Amino acid sequence: MATEIYSLPALIYGYAELEPYISEDQLRIHHSKHHQAYVNGANALLEKIANARKNGTDLDIKAVAKELSFHLAGHRLHSLFWRNMMPNGKDGGGSPQGKIADLITQEFGTLDRFKKEFSQAANSTEGSGWAALIYDVDVKKINIIQIEKHNVNVVPDYPILMVLDVWEHAYYMDYKNERNKFVDAFWNIVFWGKLNERLADAIKLEKRF
Ligand code: MN
Repeated sequence: MATEIYSLPALIYGYAELEPYISEDQLRIHHSKHHQAYVNGANALLEKIANARKNGTDLDIKAVAKELSFHLAGHRLHSLFWRNMMPNGKDGGGSPQGKIADLITQEFGTLDRFKKEFSQAANSTEGSGWAALIYDVDVKKINIIQIEKHNVNVVPDYPILMVLDVWEHAYYMDYKNERNKFVDAFWNIVFWGKLNERLADAIKLEKRF
């Protein structure tokens, strides 16, 4: 039986296609180096765990579990992030349509209010982290959360509809210390159609337990 390992997902657009909002160099290093490092980290841990079990040696479970959470969450969040963006004018940017637009209006009143709150969540994330939009299956609402690092303040089992990476590695080449400019630019490349796809899957989860 072949051993399954994690792999870096290919982008569905070219490295230069999110310009001028994310530069070719910034996107290339973010995807091919930073995301790749989380994939490698998760695979190395799986190997370490398997070897210890095979050889009957002890694992520092506390350390391994913490590291695995960090690398796996980093891998998952980046995979979600790449797909909730598209080149501007090619599905990226503009205004949401369909069910996600309805939920935004229902919860936030206006698209501007939603963008303002989400941007504030992204801009105020302390240290390294993410802003995320989740769907709360139980009360049928969307909510904004802030994730620290990749795995702190995550609400377990709440489907993620959209994420924005605000680690410095996501924007520093393009925007230096001006994270807010990167956050503003993000709205030009949001792929709202992907949010509707994820929402349709999330809504199917209604009876969870
Ligand atoms: Mn990142």
